[in-house]
Amino acid sequence: MTLVVNEVRAKSILSPSKIHRYVVNPYTGCQHGCTYCYARFMKRVTGHKEPWGEFVDVKINAPELLEKEIRRKQRGTVWVSGVCDPYQPLEERYRLTRQCLEILARNEWPVIIQTRSPLVLRDIDIIREASGFEVGLSITTADEEIRKIFEPEAPPIPERIAALGKLHSEGIRTFAMIAPLLPGAEGLAPLLKGTIDYCIVDRMNYHYADWVYRKYGLEFALTDDFFSRMNQELSSL
Ligand code: SF4
Repeated sequence: MTLVVNEVRAKSILSPSKIHRYVVNPYTGCQHGCTYCYARFMKRVTGHKEPWGEFVDVKINAPELLEKEIRRKQRGTVWVSGVCDPYQPLEERYRLTRQCLEILARNEWPVIIQTRSPLVLRDIDIIREASGFEVGLSITTADEEIRKIFEPEAPPIPERIAALGKLHSEGIRTFAMIAPLLPGAEGLAPLLKGTIDYCIVDRMNYHYADWVYRKYGLEFALTDDFFSRMNQELSSL
């Protein structure tokens, strides 16, 4: 897979959000390129022609902007991130998420981190010491074969669960974002037991990956019956 990386200077970084008060996206685009990703609308917004997952704009001035913007705005919960994975592989090199978290922690802003990557463990030193930080790992299935079909470039599920376990054992508030709920979610509950404070379950609400369900004969996992059965199983968490 080819990847086009552009270093860009953003105009702002601390944006209002409908999910939490603010959202910070240090990158536009996401190397994980999940087949169902709703954030692919960013292609339209930014005019990128490359397939989703094959371009990333790196907002190299994100920390600099954040320092300025938190001085001007009222304190509120910051979601990291909404339309990219803040711990996609490029973060290892650019460390923009880390620098943003340092700023938010130093200024005592509450943060909700959401990722599919165990790279979040690199920043455990900041997260552990900060007040009001939570970390969520997106865990969409228990079945690695299903994960490879829907999220081929994202880290394996066992690594995500292990990351949750490590964070939780360090006293950090953790959650599993079981969204979108994919086929093969049976058996997730026992795997997650003891690694999280809470979980969020949501079904596939958009149609980008309909072709994947059809190709692999997985349409049963789009039914109300599948969702309510899995929801019930996971409500024990
Ligand atoms: S990790 Fe999140 S933002 Fe990235 S492609 Fe997957 S669903 Fe989209």
